[in-house]
Amino acid sequence: MSDPARTVLTGWGRTAPTSATVLRPRDGDQVADMVRRAGPRGVLARGLGRSYGDAAQDAGGTVLDLTALDTVGVDAETGLAACGGGASLGQVMQAAIPLGWFPPVLPGTRHVTVGGALATDVHGKNHHRSGSFASHVRSMTLVGADGEARRLESADPLSQATAGGMGLTGIVTDLVMSLRPVESSFMQVDTTRAPDLDALMAQLEAADAAHPYTVAWVDCLTGGRRLGRGIVYAGDHAAPADLPEPERAAALRFEPPTGLPAPTWTPAGLLNPHTAAAFNEAWFRKAPRDRRQQLQTISTFFHPLDGVRGWNRLYGHAGFVQYQLVVPFAEGGVVRKVIERLSSARAATVLAVLKRLGASSPGPLSFPMPGWTLTVDMPARGRDLARLLDGLDQLVADAGGRVYLAKDARLRPELVAEMYPRVGEWLELRSRVDPHGCFVSDLARRLGL
Ligand SMILES: Cc1cc2nc3c(=O)[nH]c(=O)nc-3n(C[C@H](O)[C@H](O)[C@H](O)COP(=O)(O)OP(=O)(O)OC[C@H]3O[C@@H](n4cnc5c(N)ncnc54)[C@H](O)[C@@H]3O)c2cc1C
Repeated sequence: MSDPARTVLTGWGRTAPTSATVLRPRDGDQVADMVRRAGPRGVLARGLGRSYGDAAQDAGGTVLDLTALDTVGVDAETGLAACGGGASLGQVMQAAIPLGWFPPVLPGTRHVTVGGALATDVHGKNHHRSGSFASHVRSMTLVGADGEARRLESADPLSQATAGGMGLTGIVTDLVMSLRPVESSFMQVDTTRAPDLDALMAQLEAADAAHPYTVAWVDCLTGGRRLGRGIVYAGDHAAPADLPEPERAAALRFEPPTGLPAPTWTPAGLLNPHTAAAFNEAWFRKAPRDRRQQLQTISTFFHPLDGVRGWNRLYGHAGFVQYQLVVPFAEGGVVRKVIERLSSARAATVLAVLKRLGASSPGPLSFPMPGWTLTVDMPARGRDLARLLDGLDQLVADAGGRVYLAKDARLRPELVAEMYPRVGEWLELRSRVDPHGCFVSDLARRLGL
């Protein structure tokens, strides 16, 4: 007989499903109790399941859905936010923006929890200026393998191993982070089109020098002279004086749209090299050549994908892979090689993003490093996809780069030490705090973490 408490879980890419017993603790004491009772297949925290691969799954074990730990308290004077580990960044935004404060780092969706953001040490469009999420976390409460809750300051080595530690050092039940001041819920956005990859990279570099938030969409399906053409978006927080008169009185109003639902059924193969190329062509042509200081809402600038609920289903039953790499600036030529391979493989990528990352944070498993990061989505089908991505992994590793574990569902374990040279240090600390491997995930088993 099947166990009624068992639930099938996947990441956002909807590949690699496995089942686990999912429990939903209501507070830190319940988390501690559930950790103490963990069975032989271990236990793992899960936030909103927005990591793409198998990071928030534990086949045959216990997964704690942390989303009931969702309190958010913002100190309007200091800009410190005290959050339950399962509070979403969207909830933080709703509490903080009307008070004139803003999350220091936002990924491409507001539907991630602060615990998930810390465990993957997420980066945003401002990484070149502001670093990753963990750099703004002052302290946290971590429930360890012994079921004890410990208060950790950010300089504590266990705190640093937790930042980017993929939930494998314990469960974050709450944290305090510092927010940044803002005067409005609008952005001033510059948009420029670049005809090829060299121009795109040069424009992105120039935009980084002038703006706190930058990102580029890149067409990975064109070749020849148009290889790597794209669109650079650069944003600054708007001041009340930048807004039209009627908006000024409520400059800090924040009402994110709930988003339209994606269709529940899509034809198989909706996204194929032909539809993807047609989409990319239209997207590129629709963008202005050079538009300055357009007012956009925070949601439009930071979270356009949140406008379609459940958009991940558009990739159909087999799901999709998101591949994100970073290579040092000196190895920028790897970005060209990767786009050449994607373009000649006709890889049906529409959501491809190029960005420059700034300094690393102290976490041994944290992804960001100074360099170029390229992110691409691809339908998880086609005989050659695994071979294509294995080849890209090797290119990236040889260049001293790495792939992002929050997006991964298929990396070969032998490449982890090459890509994350401090993994030994992290494993040593982890085996001290969790000698029996209480915290475990499908990703951890697959990669030997
Ligand atoms: C549309 C979209 C855009 C994105 N854009 C970006 C981006 O710009 N930059 C970026 O860096 N990432 C980005 N991501 C990835 C996403 O930010 C991360 O995967 C994030 O970890 C998801 O948070 P979550 O709450 O859904 O965590 P989950 O996916 O549920 O879990 C992720 C990991 O965190 C661990 N974890 C979760 N909660 C806790 C906790 N309380 N204590 C300890 N460990 C915990 C889990 O065990 C797991 O290993 C994006 C994802 C999507 C879907």
